[in-house]
Amino acid sequence: MEGIERSRKRSRQREEILAVLRSTKEHPTAAMLHTAARRRIPRLSLGTVYRNLDVLEEMGLVLHIRNGNAQDRFDGDVSPHYHFVCDACGAVLDMPLPYRPELDEAAAREGFRVRGHRLDFHGTCPACSKP
Ligand code: ZN
Ligand code: MN
Repeated sequence: MEGIERSRKRSRQREEILAVLRSTKEHPTAAMLHTAARRRIPRLSLGTVYRNLDVLEEMGLVLHIRNGNAQDRFDGDVSPHYHFVCDACGAVLDMPLPYRPELDEAAAREGFRVRGHRLDFHGTCPACSKP
């Protein structure tokens, strides 16, 4: 009985984290997700958020954007799309360019079995570029 309760609690936490992630275009950090999800689950710990993000990534429901020196970001939109990372404000934005399957095909011609590709543009976002 305890086990069932625990697994219910776990899946509720996972669903809440996924719901928060799917409700935003901000590509939040784990800490940002933790703050937002705690409104619904007050006792949620940051460690639990990280563990759930790992599980959700493994399930293919979450995109993990590894960000070099900056904090990693997470995306609830797992459709193929590109990102822009702003050097000035740190924002991670969706890049409104179509996915380029010809890059996958070109890589496949080099003998690789290609599942897909990801592309992050870097520079200054439109808001930070304004004089
Ligand atoms: Zn910016
Ligand atoms: Mn995105």
